[in-house]
Amino acid sequence: MPGTGTPDDSEARLTVVADNETCVTSNLCVNRLPEVFGQDEDGCVVVLDPHPSAELARELLRARRSCPTRSIRVEGLAED
Ligand code: SF4
Repeated sequence: MPGTGTPDDSEARLTVVADNETCVTSNLCVNRLPEVFGQDEDGCVVVLDPHPSAELARELLRARRSCPTRSIRVEGLAED
């Protein structure tokens, strides 16, 4: 159906989950993607935007890989 928005855009959105029980407050993800990751009062990771644009996929992949405790999970991300 034409003229009702861009369904591909919404489908392209990712889901980001971070485990603040295993987070060691390294700040790497916060520094890399402050629009997606923040910190709570103890410095542990908080996901600010759990469904970021797929345009951030590359940076999310880097953030996930650079997390020293593998506390970040990204669903809907194509592995390279
Ligand atoms: S990179 Fe990992 S350990 Fe560091 S703040 Fe983010 S989730 Fe926590």
